[in-house]
This record gives sequence, C-alpha cells and structure tokens, in this order.
Amino acid sequence: MSVIKDPSLAPSGLQKINWVKANMPVLSNIESEFLKEKPFDGIKITLSVHMEAKTAYLVTVLASGGASVYATGSNPLSTQDDVAAALASFDNVEVFAVHGASPEEYESHIEAALACRPEVVIDDGGDLVNMLHTKRQDLAANVRGGCEETTTGILRLRAMEKENALMFPMIAVNNARTKYLFDNRYGTGQSVWDGINRTTNLIVAGKTVVVAGYGWCGKGVAMRAKGFGAKVVITEIDPVKALEAHMDGFTVMPMKKAAALGDLFITVTGCRDVITKEHFPLMKDGAVLCNAGHFDVEVSRSDLELVCVKKETRRANIVGYTLPNGKTLNLLGEGRLVNLAAGDGHPAEIMDLSFALQALSAAYLLENYAKLGRKVIDVPAEIDDYVARAKLGSIPVDFDELTEAQKEYLKSWNA
Ligand code: NAD
Ligand code: SAH
Repeated sequence: MSVIKDPSLAPSGLQKINWVKANMPVLSNIESEFLKEKPFDGIKITLSVHMEAKTAYLVTVLASGGASVYATGSNPLSTQDDVAAALASFDNVEVFAVHGASPEEYESHIEAALACRPEVVIDDGGDLVNMLHTKRQDLAANVRGGCEETTTGILRLRAMEKENALMFPMIAVNNARTKYLFDNRYGTGQSVWDGINRTTNLIVAGKTVVVAGYGWCGKGVAMRAKGFGAKVVITEIDPVKALEAHMDGFTVMPMKKAAALGDLFITVTGCRDVITKEHFPLMKDGAVLCNAGHFDVEVSRSDLELVCVKKETRRANIVGYTLPNGKTLNLLGEGRLVNLAAGDGHPAEIMDLSFALQALSAAYLLENYAKLGRKVIDVPAEIDDYVARAKLGSIPVDFDELTEAQKEYLKSWNA
C-alpha cells in the first residue's frame, strides 16, 4: 500500500504529469513501443528519483512496459505530494514518498519500496543501492541490475566496484552524452536559476555570482549567470577546469578570496566543505548561499548552525543566519539542491532525454544482465544515438549523414 501525504491532492498532480507528458516526445515514443513489446512483463522495478512530475511520467512508462513499479523519492524536499498522490492512483504503481520526510522516514520509504524484492532498480544519487549493500543485503541477490542517474551516484558505484563490493551490474546513465551534455549543463543551468529567482525574487544583473565547480553543471549555471548580467567568479580545484573557466571569460580565484566579493554563491561540486565557517565571516551582509550539487554539505549548513547567533525564516525556503559580526547570510532550500528543493527541477524537454535513457537502459539491462558482471556499465552508444536522433526528429532538426566514401576515408590512414 502506498505511503503518501493525501490522496485528494491527485487532481493537481495529474495535471502536472499530463503537462510534462505533452512535452516529452521521446519518452512518449518509447511508451508506445513498450505498450506493444512489454519488455518488463512480470518484472518488479524499485525506483528512487525526485518524486516530481517528469519522474512520475517515467514510472507510468515503465508500468506500460509490463512492470510493477515501487517508487520513492531521492530527496525529501523534492517530493511533490500532489504528484505522489496522482502517481499512486495508476495501475501497477505504488508510491512511498512524503514531502519534508525526516531522515528516518525517508529511509523507511526506501525500505518499503524495496520490500517487493525488485529485479531492477533505478537510483538517483545512490541511496537505494546503498541500502541494498548495507541494511538490506538480503534483497540484493534478487536484483538483476540497475541504472544510476547522477554524477555523484556513479562516483560511489565506481568506489564500490573498485573494492569488489558491487553486487549487481549498474548502468551509468549520467555518463551518456545525451545525459550530461544536456541535463547537467542546460538542465541545471536553467533550473538552478529558476529555483533561485522564484525563491529570492531579487535581481541578478550587476551582482557578483560565485559558482563553485566548473564541471558540466557549473558550466551551465555560470553561462546563464552571465546571460542575466552578473559578474561571474569561478572557484575550482582542477587546473584544467580552472583554465577552461578562465578562457571562457570568467574570473577564477580561490573561495577564500571570492567569499568577500560575492552577492550570491552557488556550489555544484559534488564535494564537501566548499563554503564553511572560515568563509562566512568574510562575506557581505545579505549574501545569498545555495547548493545545486549532490548534498547539503557543500555549503556547510552544520557550520552555519554552529556559528550563528540568530536564525530566522525570512521567506519560504530562505533561512537567515546572523553571525557574531552582525551580518546575515541567507541559505536557500536548506542547502539542498536548490533547483529541486525550491523549484520543479529540470525542464520537461531535458528530462525527456535523461528518462528516455533510463527507460531504454532498464530494458537493455534485463536482456543482457547475465553477461554484464558486477560492474559499472556505460550506456550502449546505440541507445545514446537513438535518443539524440529521436529528440532531433521531434523538434524537428535535420542533419547530415556520412556517405560510404566518407566512412571509408575516416577509417583509412593513407587515403
Ligand atoms: P563534474 O564532475 O562534471 O563537475 C564537478 C566539478 O567540481 C569538477 O570540475 C571538480 O573539479 C569541481 N570541484 C570538486 N571539488 C571542488 C571544490 N572543493 N571546490 C571547487 N571545485 C570543486 O560533475 P557535475 O556533473 O557538474 O555534477 C556536480 C554535482 O551536481 C554532482 O554532485 C552531481 O551529482 C550533481 N548534479 C546535480 C543536478 C541538479 O539537478 N541539481 C544535476 C546533475 C548533477
Ligand atoms: N539524492 C541526490 C540526488 C542528486 S540529484 C540528492 O538530492 O541529494 C541530481 C539529479 O537530479 C540529476 O542527475 C538530474 O537528472 C535529476 N533531476 C533534475 N531535475 C529533475 C526533475 N525535474 N525530475 C527528476 N529528476 C531530476
């Protein structure tokens, strides 16, 4: 039985699901194929992904393919209770997710979603797979494999693979080109600003925006900051990325120096302690801090709690921390992913790519799991190509194909 906040919220959740469905043509094509081919007939899938409208549509597509789907969120603050209620009303779907769940409740929802003994898992950030390798190892033997959505989740899987700890194959969806080039860059680039702007309702133009991390997400966030008219400062620890940011026209400096200059700080590193109590006293009064990377340790919320002399909610999703020096720093969305904790996450057209990859990778996994081994597997290039072609076709955008002579030329060394 589903665990949701309130079934009567379903009508507004259903509107949200229908809206994104109308804007996710690649996933819609896959749904039509799945309805005919039933690749998941008799299969149980447990999914832990932000319980939001695009995820809900992915769940219904998997169910169209014959699966029974047990869905939970991947962050207590990104769960939208109306979407969870709507999703729970679909056939062959159970939902275990409540907005604002405590850490214990969040964990109990993951455990409840796993109780079906799934053959396939779909994870975002590693919480589900982690539980299958710790508290609920007894369920791992039944799992044929899974798919992981995000950068940090894959880092963790690679660490498990290295220690021979991984108990089933996991497909690294994030590492497909049609994922990180679009979701991480353009998706995060747009949705982070959507989250910040709707939460603060403040101007960006003319301000100094500090972006920590110039990876795929950071590039998108910095690019859009520039578009808003901000002065953009990048902090990095990788010399190549720091050079890239410099050549892209941004100012690069260490966080210790940037701390005094920024009006708005956004961390997107997947690392910890990027902004801490050593930086807070250097910052301007009224500075806004937020995070778009994996966890709430990039901007150290525990340090803010430790050093503040006063703490107050200043507006929905904004907490002001007043320091002993009298300055107040404003933390958005509890330092969790600002685009999902204080917004609707990436746009539908972007999640169309990411979730088309998820759906096709899950089907590929079921067909091939026996030969994949306990490894982290790349998404097959044919799936990546299919998703790009299908997206281009839906826009529509036409492009060139190699002639036979060109193919031969590119393969030769003496032509
Ligand atoms: P990435 O590996 O491409 O980039 C991370 C960058 O941060 C790297 O260039 C790295 O050198 C830099 N970095 C690491 N530690 C740092 C530090 N202490 N200070 C400054 N820079 C540092 O990864 P990505 O794909 O850009 O993802 C970044 C994070 O965002 C991950 O945790 C990922 O899971 C998450 N993510 C969030 C969303 C979202 O919707 N908010 C979307 C995709 C990914
Ligand atoms: N458990 C982690 C998850 C990392 S979230 C946490 O919240 O702490 C990063 C992932 O969220 C990205 O890889 C992206 O694909 C996904 N995402 C972004 N917007 C989304 C949306 N609207 N719906 C579902 N997933 C989304």
